[in-house]
Amino acid sequence: MKVKAAAKINLMLDILKKLDNGYHSLFMIMQSVDLYDEVSVEKSESGGIKIFCDNRNVPCDSRNIAYKCAEAFFKELEIKEYSVEITIKKNIPLAAGIAGGSADGAAVLYCLNKIYGVNLTDFELSKIGERVGADIPFSLTGGTAVALGTGNVIARVNTLGGCRIVLAKPQQEVSTPEAYAMFDSLTRVRHLDRVSMIDAVSTGNYEKICSLCANVFEQAVEVPKRPHIKGIMRKFGADAVCMSGSGPTVFGLFSDDEKAQKCYLKLKEKYDEVYICNPIDSGILELVEEI
Ligand code: ATP
Repeated sequence: MKVKAAAKINLMLDILKKLDNGYHSLFMIMQSVDLYDEVSVEKSESGGIKIFCDNRNVPCDSRNIAYKCAEAFFKELEIKEYSVEITIKKNIPLAAGIAGGSADGAAVLYCLNKIYGVNLTDFELSKIGERVGADIPFSLTGGTAVALGTGNVIARVNTLGGCRIVLAKPQQEVSTPEAYAMFDSLTRVRHLDRVSMIDAVSTGNYEKICSLCANVFEQAVEVPKRPHIKGIMRKFGADAVCMSGSGPTVFGLFSDDEKAQKCYLKLKEKYDEVYICNPIDSGILELVEEI
């Protein structure tokens, strides 16, 4: 079976504390966007888990997040004999802070649940996913959501509507563990107005969401091109500009479609990885196979 797996942005990302197990306690407002990888999962004859990907920079072995999710799924269900082929068509940029790998992992869990007919609930799938990556529970759910804990507690809210989202990724890759290490070394952190943001997303107040959009990783992770990208987005009329995840992707929210289009074209002149997207209300979309 074949699905589309959506990228996400963080409308807010705050890090509350480092936990004893090394993970971090987070407060995130997540939003799925219609920038998708295509993931197909089929039972095969060759034995084990085989990964194929059209991007040579993605590891096609047990380091792949899709592989790890498949392995965790079979382990959880105590399925010892398995043979699956996973094919990933990569459109989401790598190490960009928009959860490309997590989207693929979530897609694999979703497909295996259907292919093996085991009918795990969303919660059960999410429990398997959270052991592999913090963004996987959200990637399974999608839409607009508040994510707490290590990303394992998800509360859906009304989908952000009526806006366009421009994404620009400068030519820099950020490793998420390194970003957390940089955050941990900060001596002072300016935390975010989380209570007001909860109010803004639960009432779907776009202007208020825009005024509160922020990410504490911006205090820790150096992205030299970030001010340049933000400057262009603001000049073209973005209602909010912010970095997503551990970066380096920067996004701008636009209520005006024409302004968003113009901003997209301007950024395209300067950067290779620029996208214009819409907010969407699910993380995984089934594709009907052509016969
Ligand atoms: P997040 O926002 O969840 O932190 P990210 O967008 O920063 O994710 P990813 O693109 O998910 O980062 O992946 C980071 C690294 O993980 C890649 O550089 C790659 O080496 C490895 N990786 C493993 N599996 C995948 C996958 N299926 N797709 C992309 N990268 C993968």
